[in-house]
Amino acid sequence: MPPQGRLLIAAYLPESWLVRFIDENITEATAADFNWADLVFVSGMHIQAPQIHDIAKRAKRAGKVIVLGGASVSGAPELYPEFDYLHIGEIGDGTDRLIDCLDESVAPPLAQMRFETKERLPLYDFPLPAYNLVHLEHYLIGSLQFSSGCPYRCEFCDIPALYGRQPRLKTPEQITDELNEMLKQPGHPSVVYFVDDNFIGNRKATREMLPHLIDWQRRHGYPLQFACEATLNLAKQSEILSLMRQAQFLTVFVGIETPEVDALKAMRKEHNAARPMMEAIKTLNSYGLEVTSGIILGLDTDTADTESRLKEFIDLSEIPILTINLLQALPRTPLWDRLKRAGRLIADDTGLESNVRFLRSHDEVVAMWRRCVTYAYDPERLFARFAYQVDATYAHRIDVPVRGKLTIRNLREAVVLGFNIVLWVGLLSNYRVSFWRAARRALKRGQVDAALGMGLVAYHLIQFSREALRGDQNASFYSTRSHARTRPIASRLEDVAEPIK
Ligand code: SF4
Repeated sequence: MPPQGRLLIAAYLPESWLVRFIDENITEATAADFNWADLVFVSGMHIQAPQIHDIAKRAKRAGKVIVLGGASVSGAPELYPEFDYLHIGEIGDGTDRLIDCLDESVAPPLAQMRFETKERLPLYDFPLPAYNLVHLEHYLIGSLQFSSGCPYRCEFCDIPALYGRQPRLKTPEQITDELNEMLKQPGHPSVVYFVDDNFIGNRKATREMLPHLIDWQRRHGYPLQFACEATLNLAKQSEILSLMRQAQFLTVFVGIETPEVDALKAMRKEHNAARPMMEAIKTLNSYGLEVTSGIILGLDTDTADTESRLKEFIDLSEIPILTINLLQALPRTPLWDRLKRAGRLIADDTGLESNVRFLRSHDEVVAMWRRCVTYAYDPERLFARFAYQVDATYAHRIDVPVRGKLTIRNLREAVVLGFNIVLWVGLLSNYRVSFWRAARRALKRGQVDAALGMGLVAYHLIQFSREALRGDQNASFYSTRSHARTRPIASRLEDVAEPIK
């Protein structure tokens, strides 16, 4: 996804400043880029801390003044002593003071200077993110922000401390303006993800915004599909769900975290149990929404039964994609404070998979994570869950005209994707029988997109679980420990043909 926060900052900088925007997820900044700049602005999340330090080193080597903002430094400024300027918090009065200071002089300060936002800029005053500075065709999914903040207080989450508990909002017109801007680029992605911490943090505002989105889709021939993240009590909001269906929301990420109700209570996420969990998931499916679930292992409430309960949950929920993570304590969370008091925080440089001293042994928890990932992404089971979605979820989506999607990028992608899926998954892989069983069911219902989508996603997930088994993958997506390696294309054949364990 294009990085929303950086696109926003790029748009907010004074018009007289020339901005060169580089997303190092796509391409590295070159020596020429560093030489061109007076200042290097950097941003990232905790998991990107090693890259943030690396960029700082390269920029310093080029003799540049460096500024750091974003989620990681806002949560833990002490991690970044090498930066000249720190921007802490969201865009707001701190940003204005930083810009004034740099407008005066770009000479390095004698000591590190910090600018902290006390008064946030209201979202309705946000400028249009600088989508014009990125090539959207380089991204699989587009990103869009409608709100910031979440009213809940889950123990492990830093959103309430960083972004507040009173969700702040953009206007519907801002949203449609941003969509118009994305559409200007012929190669824009066909899926746009609402990056809001909780899409129904303010239900009234969501209900009022959605009709504008539906109207925009109708006027443009439904060029986009949407995804978002929300709490499971979305299942109680039938009006919002019906509007989401009409707007072409196809996927919702839900931080289910654990199927164990006592564990949800302990982490203060009891709102996920507001309705029986399976019933809530089936309700979301009935509005055409495929659920992606976040799961956490290593909780204090884990017992010897946790693994079997999670496996049972995977089977009963029929959720195809689950991000199964080990608990990680983030700064500025109640969890961090509690574990610190108990002396249970571990330094990041220990090479362990998490910074939490679990109540059970570390090796036992990591081994359980490996077994659960292997279980979830066993090809037979994974494709059976996709096959279930064909009738339970995909069949409930509205039929939309193809006019809006007839772009050169979409046609090119469909051909390339179709060829690769048939070759790598449908012919060469040792899970091709399971794939064709699920794909046939989708194709019989005319769901060509779904058949290709399940092939693509399953290929990635099966590969991920095989890398996890080899110890080449992180057990926590939030850990700064880096395992994940880019594998050469030549090794793909070995991967798809690796025996199923
Ligand atoms: S509901 Fe989600 S965003 Fe809100 S506090 Fe809990 S984990 Fe964080």
